[in-house]
Amino acid sequence: MKQLWPSHVRTRLTLWYVAILAAVLVIYGGSTSAVLLYQMRGQLDHVAIEDLETVEGFFAFGPDGNLHLPSEYHDHPYSPEMQERFVEVRAEDGALLYRKERLGDQVLGGNPEPGEGVDSYSPRSVRLDTGTPVRVISRRHTIEGRSTLIRLGFSEGLMWQRFWQTVVGLLLGLPLALGLAGIGGYYLARRALRPVERMARRAHEIHAEHLGTRLEVENPYDELGLLGQAFNETLARLERSFEQLKRFTSDASHELRTPLTAIRSVGEVGLQRDGDSSHYREVIGSMLEEAGRLSRLVEGLLGMARADSGQVKLEQTSISVLSFVREATCLIEVLSEEKGQILSIGGDNSVGVIGDPIVLRRVVMNLLDNAIKYSPTGGRVGVRILRSDATTVAIEIEDNGPGIALEHREKIFHRFYRIDEGRSRDAGGAGLGLAIAKWGAEVHKGRLELDSSSTGCVFRLLLPLAVESLRDPAA
Ligand code: ADP
Repeated sequence: MKQLWPSHVRTRLTLWYVAILAAVLVIYGGSTSAVLLYQMRGQLDHVAIEDLETVEGFFAFGPDGNLHLPSEYHDHPYSPEMQERFVEVRAEDGALLYRKERLGDQVLGGNPEPGEGVDSYSPRSVRLDTGTPVRVISRRHTIEGRSTLIRLGFSEGLMWQRFWQTVVGLLLGLPLALGLAGIGGYYLARRALRPVERMARRAHEIHAEHLGTRLEVENPYDELGLLGQAFNETLARLERSFEQLKRFTSDASHELRTPLTAIRSVGEVGLQRDGDSSHYREVIGSMLEEAGRLSRLVEGLLGMARADSGQVKLEQTSISVLSFVREATCLIEVLSEEKGQILSIGGDNSVGVIGDPIVLRRVVMNLLDNAIKYSPTGGRVGVRILRSDATTVAIEIEDNGPGIALEHREKIFHRFYRIDEGRSRDAGGAGLGLAIAKWGAEVHKGRLELDSSSTGCVFRLLLPLAVESLRDPAA
């Protein structure tokens, strides 16, 4: 079924606008006409009162005992309202004393009502037998010692004629005014909404492969401009995420392929020739080594994926820095022993931070793992805990490896970035360790810094101190 309510916003806006304008005009026209009627009636009353005051003095009883009004009084109307003037005088008991000839037998208000015309002028509207509407002013007046009620009325015909002329004029003008307003409103609504149409057309062209397209923003300060800007910013974020995801997927599949290929080829080569148990032990050992690398990689990938999706629920416990540094060292010590390196921990052992012990331990482990990996056999790896300033603790991991050249210092924190692919892979690295460490530092409102020279590196993990550690222990 076809919907009656128009689907276009511009048409709906115009209809609302015209409907509201019509209501406003009807209320305005109605109240203006009512005020006009009130004023015209007030004016009529005013003229009638003035005339009644004049006429009072003209009445006199003739020798025949009847009440008379000089005829010249009727002949010289001095305002158009006075052309249709009606006069009637009644005695106290209601007996008719005078009636203007033009009234004939018609009654101007009937018998006197109680209190009518006493002390003040009483105005009221009556209708003659002929149907003429008349505005009547009554007033008690004593003529030659006799108490009378004089009623003087003017036809309201002219007043109603003017009133209806005004009403009809307004009613005839209403459709014209609404028509013009509707056309103007539609044109304005169309003009104002044109950027939306352009934006919608442009938005249709945006696909996953075309995320670089942006909406045109004519005026960045109006509502539509703000909407366009917000949309463009969302697109930019989406584009960045898509790019990241694409890079991550291709890097991850590349990384996964290498150990898998290695496992397969080691297995195939091993099977090609018959050998004794030591031969198979060697083959299986190599395969297990690659499988270990694969599982480390998968673990790293899972960690990154969880971090990206924001699913990692971080604990917020108050922990001593020394405790998680010690745990990390204990877990990794065996590697440094294998290489005959000296691993030492020192510094301020009283400081604490608020955070997740497992994540923080993982950060220190990744940094230590690199320090051990890239330091020579028989080298030194040191961990130092110190207050960097009044609110920050620094955990420094120092090695005496080859150091990191200036051009790599930023990039080593990117995922899958390795300076020397071959060496790093041989050492078991997948290029994720520092990216995970950086994430771990940032979710704890900290950061990771690097000082490097040709004689080694210092990775510095900076974390906000827990409140209880803020007091200077020396104080
Ligand atoms: P990987 O798992 O390959 O070690 P990381 O993200 O931990 O990946 O490190 C990225 C790269 O930074 C490494 O491949 C290595 O080239 C370099 N690197 C990291 N730590 C050190 C270090 N202590 N000394 C020298 N080079 C380092």
